[in-house]
Amino acid sequence: MRSILELTPKEIEGFIAKSGYEPYRSRQVLEWIYDKAIIDFNQMSSVPRGLREELSRTFCIIPFQLIDKLEGDGAIKLLFVTPDNLSFESVIITHPERSTLCVSTQIGCPVGCRFCATGETFNRNLRSEEIVAEYIFAQNIIGRRISGIVFMGMGEPLLNEEEVYKAISKFIDDFRISPRHITISTSGIPKGIVNLAKNFPKVKLAFSLWSADPEVRKELVPTSKIYPLEEVIRSIGEYVEITHNRVSIEYTVIKGVNDSIEDAYKLIDLFKGFPVFFNIILYNPKDTKTEELVPEMKDVMRFMSVIKRFKREVHLRDSKGVKISAACGQLRGIYERTK
Ligand code: SF4
Repeated sequence: MRSILELTPKEIEGFIAKSGYEPYRSRQVLEWIYDKAIIDFNQMSSVPRGLREELSRTFCIIPFQLIDKLEGDGAIKLLFVTPDNLSFESVIITHPERSTLCVSTQIGCPVGCRFCATGETFNRNLRSEEIVAEYIFAQNIIGRRISGIVFMGMGEPLLNEEEVYKAISKFIDDFRISPRHITISTSGIPKGIVNLAKNFPKVKLAFSLWSADPEVRKELVPTSKIYPLEEVIRSIGEYVEITHNRVSIEYTVIKGVNDSIEDAYKLIDLFKGFPVFFNIILYNPKDTKTEELVPEMKDVMRFMSVIKRFKREVHLRDSKGVKISAACGQLRGIYERTK
């Protein structure tokens, strides 16, 4: 069944008028969805019963089903299945004052990063209404507004630009989320980075680096053979020039792969003169075979102390949800293996 989120407000108005109801009813329906995160037409008490029934017969709101929900450690992980029997995840990072949703943009990921569970397969892009539905569903689950969105879930958002941009426009225009509270995380797609700056200059950028050594990075992030690190850095420079935003450099520390002092110096060198800050993330193993790659805390501290010595801003990112398999693609991987 088609989701009503695929329709523009004008199209919804047209449908409602054709069903014999006043056009202003479309605003009521949208308020229930956008402002109250109601995901069942029958709960829209101010809408006439006949129209609710007509809408329920014709549309769904959320075009997928929840099949698992894990909660703990400051995060709620949601696993969904689509009508074409594909699964994907969203993660709500809960906070008493401001919760954030980490949305997926693809089912699987074509980038195929070596240490990422999501990158093991790629099925398809998520459509904008599916991305928006992740947000509505998450608000419905926690019963309050989520004011921050990070495109850091499954997939490479800049390889699904059209649908991602449609979703961002909806978040800003219809859900009134400040673009400053939206972040796109990329593995480094140069053209996409520049397009983002031109289309949404207030939306923030995070770059998932993995390694500052171009050769090591080619091993870890296969697309860096097509988009060399140098080219990505140039595009980040262009992004900064257009937007004047600082960029977050996401660095996942993997034991014995990118955690040495030399690696830290390479990182500093790579971003000399760039307005960036570093988010250090501890590797979250994708399965039992990769458990030995979790870095030692003393090595992480040593790595960070090099960065601090150069007076660059660095944070150790709180790995919320580690206990509930909250790293990208983990819960889905478990589901796919057992289905
Ligand atoms: S880390 Fe991100 S870009 Fe790389 S495979 Fe995983 S989801 Fe894709």
